[in-house]
Amino acid sequence: MNKGKLLVFSAPSGSGKTTIVRHLLEQEDLNLEFSISCATREPRGQEVDGKDYYFISWEEFKKHIKAEEFVEWEEVYTNNYYGTLKSEVERIWAKGKNVIFDIDVSGGLRIKSKFPQETLAVFVKPPSVDELKRRLKQRSTESDEKINMRIAKAHVELATAPQFDKIIKNYDLDVAKAEAYDLVKEFISGF
Ligand code: 5GP
Repeated sequence: MNKGKLLVFSAPSGSGKTTIVRHLLEQEDLNLEFSISCATREPRGQEVDGKDYYFISWEEFKKHIKAEEFVEWEEVYTNNYYGTLKSEVERIWAKGKNVIFDIDVSGGLRIKSKFPQETLAVFVKPPSVDELKRRLKQRSTESDEKINMRIAKAHVELATAPQFDKIIKNYDLDVAKAEAYDLVKEFISGF
């Protein structure tokens, strides 16, 4: 199979990485397709099964682990498991496309270590932890308890930024989007 590239976007929850990833997916010249992860949490808001995530039970998730079908998986938050299936990468590469991932920092670094040549790992940095909190509250899709859980994790995640190939500061969304586009364009063009 012809291998495409792997574009990993990782960041603490609320950093704006999902918005950046969606923007990149709209740029046809980048030839990207979104890697749909498996998740054991409930769908939020407008999320659609098979589009945003494959929402599966913990029982099903365990079967995938046992069968070694994940490229990487992680208990991102207590009792919330997320994972990237090998079949997902193969499905997208078989179409001649590049794969873009919106995954947590540990998963992102694991993909990089498994596919060092093919991967560009980008860390999206929020202006501050206070700003993250504000954005998560504004999104109002989660309880205060869940928001606090995400903030606690953000401190640990921010410390991993230097391990990524590139860091984008998301202080101004339009600037961050343009910077992300340039990085991906350059990487897939092989410069
Ligand atoms: P959310 O519940 O907000 O959709 O996602 C929580 C976190 O899990 C986010 O940082 C998201 O990027 C990450 N995530 C989503 N899919 C995967 C995956 O397949 N593997 C890993 N390691 N993290 C993921």
